[in-house]
Amino acid sequence: MSDIEHINSDINLCTECHAGIMQPRQITYFTWLGEELITVPHFPAWICDVCGKREYDEKAIQWLNMLLDPNAGKPTNNKRRAPLPSRPQPGASRPIQDS
Ligand SMILES: [Zn+2]
Repeated sequence: MSDIEHINSDINLCTECHAGIMQPRQITYFTWLGEELITVPHFPAWICDVCGKREYDEKAIQWLNMLLDPNAGKPTNNKRRAPLPSRPQPGASRPIQDS
């Protein structure tokens, strides 16, 4: 049984220099959370072996954003917070001038 599969461009060519190959690496990812610098060691990334371009794993980024954002996944537009009551003021649109 021959198990020949076409490898559909499984090699990640660098989009920057088009010469290098994006190699899977684990780097330390830095990001800011407010004023706090967060470092994430062993973060999966792809690094070009020619020009050094970095691309981070999309799922890992999403996972990280979920970790860092406590509001992630919660509906934020569901708050019933009434805006300031707007009272219709008679005559407010037209200033009455006492002539
Ligand atoms: Zn490159």
